Amino acid sequence: MEKVNVLIIGAGVIGLAVGKALSEEFEDVVIVEQEKSFGRHTSSRNSEVIHSGIYYPQNSLKAKLCLEGNEMLYDFAKTHNITYKKTGKIVVATSEEELPSLIDLKENGGKNNVSGLRIIDESECNKLEPQILAVKGLLVPSSGIIDTHKLMQKLESESEKNDAFVVYDMKVISIQKNEKTYIVEFSNEEIFEANILINCAGLFCEDIAKMVGIETIENNLKIYWCKGEYYKTTKIKNIEHLIYPIPSSISCGIHLSLNLADECRFGPNANYVDKLNYAITDKYKKKFFVSVKKYIEIDEENLNMDDCGIRAKLQGPNDNFRDFYIKEETEKGYSNFINLMGIDSPGLTACLSIAEEVKRILST
Ligand SMILES: Cc1cc2nc3c(=O)[nH]c(=O)nc-3n(C[C@H](O)[C@H](O)[C@H](O)COP(=O)(O)OP(=O)(O)OC[C@H]3O[C@@H](n4cnc5c(N)ncnc54)[C@H](O)[C@@H]3O)c2cc1C
Repeated sequence: MEKVNVLIIGAGVIGLAVGKALSEEFEDVVIVEQEKSFGRHTSSRNSEVIHSGIYYPQNSLKAKLCLEGNEMLYDFAKTHNITYKKTGKIVVATSEEELPSLIDLKENGGKNNVSGLRIIDESECNKLEPQILAVKGLLVPSSGIIDTHKLMQKLESESEKNDAFVVYDMKVISIQKNEKTYIVEFSNEEIFEANILINCAGLFCEDIAKMVGIETIENNLKIYWCKGEYYKTTKIKNIEHLIYPIPSSISCGIHLSLNLADECRFGPNANYVDKLNYAITDKYKKKFFVSVKKYIEIDEENLNMDDCGIRAKLQGPNDNFRDFYIKEETEKGYSNFINLMGIDSPGLTACLSIAEEVKRILST
């Protein structure tokens, strides 16, 4: 049996960021991942947007960690030569009826201390983005995009520089709590004994919490999977900003995002699913078209299916806002088990601040 000090389950952007942060302070940190490389699930299937923090309720962890994470991520990208672009974004009101929601969003962003927010009128919208249809917009200067693959690669190499290990093809299948340690069994029959155990398993975080012994339903920690699909087009060019509609209660809406090659993507939509299936069909194409053509002229045939990702959400179909859950579980009888659940958007933006939060929890 292998003995380790800190065992992190999952090499998505969160597990890798936690690995980097903890390996700066703790000895003998190991990240285990069931796949053959990092980021095969949600972390490589998202919009790659560095969010500003305008959407989340004041004083929520999402608001705090998004704001902190936004700055940390730009700094990290600059320091380590990871490609990024601070494009800014415009949330558009496409009719007079949407104006109150735009004002509410600006006020909420202001409460969260998001800087530089400004309502712009139709002529300024047209000047900044001549192809966009809007009666007014909310300009959000601190949003941008980042190369997520390069980010994860750097987080992995920085962890390894601090003598942490990332081990692939290691699927956790059972966890047993001893008096002071956790015995973790893998599908390849290896067994590790860990002093500190950290759940960064993304879509499978509920399975890990249950393996430890936590009653997820009783504790209101059921995870819902919410799929988001993308379409892309080669017909629209020369867009400079990310363009967002007014958000819904479960997502920030089918937005126009840019990749680092300046290609346009639309999405993601949001549909709760039971199965982990990354295939996409044209079932929602019409809905995409209707949403997108509200803010930009496009022909339906120029929308091409792209890819999709699945969010791990604590917020079920009929629920209100749910925050990130990041907790040391002594209260439930599992000391030195740090449980991260429901790390949906803005998890990518907040990866470095989430990692600092875990470090802070372990240092108190
Ligand atoms: C469609 C979509 C768009 C999004 N857009 C944005 C955005 O623009 N900006 C933003 O900030 N956030 C965005 N997000 C959210 C962001 O992508 C996530 O918050 C983040 O990627 C979560 O990372 P993670 O490491 O928790 O999960 P994952 O990347 O899923 O990593 C978890 C890892 O744990 C591993 N694992 C699970 N179970 C086991 C086990 N038993 N044993 C070993 N390993 C295991 C998995 O294989 C996986 O690699 C988006 C999400 C989606 C789905």
